[in-house]
Amino acid sequence: MADDVLLSAAHLTKRFGGLAAVNDVSVDLWRGRIHAVIGPNGAGKSTLTNLLSGDLPPTSGTIHLGGTEITGRSPEAIARAGLGRSYQKTNIFLPFTVWENVRLAAQSRAQHPARWLRKATSFAAVNEQAQRALELAGLASRRDVLAGTISHGEQRQLEIAMTLATAPSVLLLDEPLAGMGTAEAERMVQLLHRLKDAHAILLVEHDMDAVFALADQLTVMVNGQVIASGPPQMIRTDAGVQAAYLGEEHV
Ligand code: ADP
Ligand code: MG
Repeated sequence: MADDVLLSAAHLTKRFGGLAAVNDVSVDLWRGRIHAVIGPNGAGKSTLTNLLSGDLPPTSGTIHLGGTEITGRSPEAIARAGLGRSYQKTNIFLPFTVWENVRLAAQSRAQHPARWLRKATSFAAVNEQAQRALELAGLASRRDVLAGTISHGEQRQLEIAMTLATAPSVLLLDEPLAGMGTAEAERMVQLLHRLKDAHAILLVEHDMDAVFALADQLTVMVNGQVIASGPPQMIRTDAGVQAAYLGEEHV
């Protein structure tokens, strides 16, 4: 149903000089669904993520979040409106504990001007939100450990926890499995599966096993353009996609 579409982007284009890094791309994100975006390096996946989060203004096109147009708003305003994102490069304060990182992320969201009015309850509310995020991300047992000393996989979990601490309804995840071993990747797939029910998720990922295990919807980008979009089973057998991107092993 239309009211389950939490984020809707229509005809997004982003030009860098003569290069159309994102060229007329439309995408809808639904609560309870993971929409994976795949494509070779330079396809425009990260640029698309940056357009949706407000980190880059689109050259043209529109973005609606929860029915409100957010095109051209600042990343902070878009985050407050319910969009959470992780970056390809880590955002963690390594000398701080896991808990302190999540707590700071939760606090950043709480610093909306209107929330100062509820100052008395905000301390408890922020702690509660941070604790929930920590547990959801599977890091409760690592609470008091320095972020610089946990494994690479756990640091990626921490980034997800920090994103969850802002209580987003839409999650944009840019390569959350990058650099992970098999066991770490498996744990992250389980985590993303847990997050699906309560969120609309855009997942940019190169790990095709993870993509096909998780995605409800798949968009394939090449050179800024969508060459195919639909259910994974349809994409798997799309001759154009196979020729352009997917290897034989996923056919
Ligand atoms: P992907 O994430 O799919 O690997 P990107 O979105 O990072 O692709 O990049 C898409 C294209 O846009 C690439 O050709 C890249 O060099 C170019 N690009 C990305 N960001 C910028 C920028 N800030 N300025 C100029 N060109 C950029
Ligand atoms: Mg990228």
